[in-house]
Amino acid sequence: MIQFFRKYKIPIGIFILFEMIGILFSSIFKHVFYIINFSYIGFFVALTVGLMMAGKKNARIFSEFAVGLYMFVFLGIINQENMQLEGFFYFASMGIFQAAVIHYAVAKIVGPFIFGRAWCSYACWTAMVLDILPYKIPSKPRVEKLGVFRWIIFIITLVYFCIIWFLYRDNIHYIMYISFIVGNILYYAAGIALAIIFKDNRAFCKYLCPITVFLKPASYYSLLRIYCSEQKCEKCGKCLKTCPMDVDMLDNKRSRKNGTECIQCLICVQDCPKKALSWRIGSSK
Ligand code: SF4
Ligand code: SF4
Ligand code: SF4
Repeated sequence: MIQFFRKYKIPIGIFILFEMIGILFSSIFKHVFYIINFSYIGFFVALTVGLMMAGKKNARIFSEFAVGLYMFVFLGIINQENMQLEGFFYFASMGIFQAAVIHYAVAKIVGPFIFGRAWCSYACWTAMVLDILPYKIPSKPRVEKLGVFRWIIFIITLVYFCIIWFLYRDNIHYIMYISFIVGNILYYAAGIALAIIFKDNRAFCKYLCPITVFLKPASYYSLLRIYCSEQKCEKCGKCLKTCPMDVDMLDNKRSRKNGTECIQCLICVQDCPKKALSWRIGSSK
């Protein structure tokens, strides 16, 4: 039993963390929804991470669809809560600390201090589609300078929201709902097109996704990180080739190349023939 807890301490910790967040928000807002919501998300993410640690290499897609569809279809389309970037601006401007604001705070702004960009591997409804495309291993290194478009899309989204906020306030809830649907269709179309052009499933994440503006800063300080054992590593380079985000995970420093691009997918850990890579809580170097 102790062995089990030792081996699966990260997924168990993830589940407990989500339970605590659910209890916290339920007691603040006096509504049981938050416990159900965070229990659901925590359960699927923890189960998936546990399955991956048990050697089920492709388990990640399970969590992506379970959590991604729940958020996209149930919260976004049925409940009409815009969970995209403009939705965050909308609820934040209204001073409503609910819906997209809680989602962004937990998954994309504060959460990455603990679990980095795990959102991008286990829950994102855009990536859930991109990850089933055939270009899992990028055929070429990322084009660094194209990353600036993520900032440009972020600014365009902010300007778009400001226009709606000042000119169409009376219909803003309806416009936000339509924006959520149209915006996601555009994201999917752009994501699939970029994947085909660059032969890289994650090209959209690298070159267009504006959410990375939020995700990257806290990810730099993430408690959970990939570490490389210098004693075990034989510098074969396999992990560098299979990483979908071009991270230099052989360098343990926080300033490692593309360190804030790591999506905690554990592909490198699973692929290392020498078991030199581990996913754990570690100190900053
Ligand atoms: S970078 Fe953007 S599209 Fe890619 S997984 Fe993260 S949030 Fe989703
Ligand atoms: S796959 Fe393993 S042994 Fe090869 S370079 Fe990466 S960490 Fe080192
Ligand atoms: S460094 Fe490892 S965990 Fe991070 S994105 Fe690359 S393959 Fe995934």
